[in-house]
Amino acid sequence: MIPYGRQHIDDADIAAVIETLQSDFLTQGPKVPEFEVAIAAACQAKYAVAMNSATSALHLACLALGVGAGDLVWTSPISFVASANCALYCGANIGFVDVDATTGLMSVEALTNKLASAALHGNLPKVLIPVHLAGHSCDMAAIHRLCASYGVKIIEDASHAVGACYQDQPVGNCRFSDITIFSFHPVKIITTAEGGMALCNDIALYSQLQLLRSHGITRNEQDMSEPSHGPWYYQQIDLGFNYRMTELQAALGLSQLDRLRQFIHHRIKATEIYQQLLADLAVELPADAIDGISAWHLYIVRLENSKQRLAVFQALRAAGIGVNVHYIPIHTQPYYQARGFQWGDFPGAEKFYSQIISLPMYATITLEQQQQVADALKLALQQNQQSPAANV
Ligand SMILES: *Cc1c(COP(=O)(O)O)cnc(C)c1O
Repeated sequence: MIPYGRQHIDDADIAAVIETLQSDFLTQGPKVPEFEVAIAAACQAKYAVAMNSATSALHLACLALGVGAGDLVWTSPISFVASANCALYCGANIGFVDVDATTGLMSVEALTNKLASAALHGNLPKVLIPVHLAGHSCDMAAIHRLCASYGVKIIEDASHAVGACYQDQPVGNCRFSDITIFSFHPVKIITTAEGGMALCNDIALYSQLQLLRSHGITRNEQDMSEPSHGPWYYQQIDLGFNYRMTELQAALGLSQLDRLRQFIHHRIKATEIYQQLLADLAVELPADAIDGISAWHLYIVRLENSKQRLAVFQALRAAGIGVNVHYIPIHTQPYYQARGFQWGDFPGAEKFYSQIISLPMYATITLEQQQQVADALKLALQQNQQSPAANV
């Protein structure tokens, strides 16, 4: 089976992890800060806080921006459920902004209308979480302009977009947001097995993220309510969590980061190959990022409708092609339906969902594998052709 995504681990990665395993620190040592500094530098952000997952990073990003009970957070319905769950962890309510049905990215038009209506009804969100689906940045300049005019803060869920660019600058520099989140899950661009990162340019947000990552405990005397009792002394000044990344993970992440450019280069090349191999097939191919360079985490093609999508998906799986669907609209999940959402709420997201298949895409995919995918897709389409009458 050719998987839809997979990690690439080389000898340098293995050596880095073994070296750390034999060092004095398995956690809370030098590797995590070293990884944070390296990611911040690569993304031209001032600060980065490593965590045990992007889900944890999203949760703390919401808390650091003051999200709490009674607040409202909006995100995209076309994302992994973690993009919405983070608001609920804080006791806040969640809402969704519909996406463009061809790209799956947050629609600026839908956001414009929803903000205007919310302003009128006095229910503006505190935070908006746009999602850079497939590694394509959302239209952040427009989203930022809109949010700034209504006083809405922004967390970019860039779980797919490590190494991507927007307007010639690295995603993660937070030029158009308060905080940016990366994921290092094995299917993502670089991996730490499990892991995530929050980047920001504001020192107060940075301190808050660090504090909440480790139990709300501080060793900085200037943050304490009374003079330190001695070198052992710490104070818990907030209710935090244990969301720390281990040294082993950070060592792996640092080693992977050395190959980030190479990984992105391969994904861009593989995209160009798919565009050629699939050019004559009756499927809609993904467009390039609007104003930048995608990380091409996913290569999403679109079929005619849900019936054809199901048939083609089944044929590809049967042919040993590990296709997938990104994503089932979050608002249609039973947990979210129980909170009042229903099918029909976000037509753009539902249309996108009904047509999509993610083809295999990863940093080591070979030309032969892509050829195999293309051949299988061609065959599947021939076997499941829409009869002209079905389109009338
Ligand atoms: C993978 C992913 C997450 C969660 O990442 P973890 O590191 O697995 O917690 C969140 N949002 C999006 C868009 C993702 O793809």
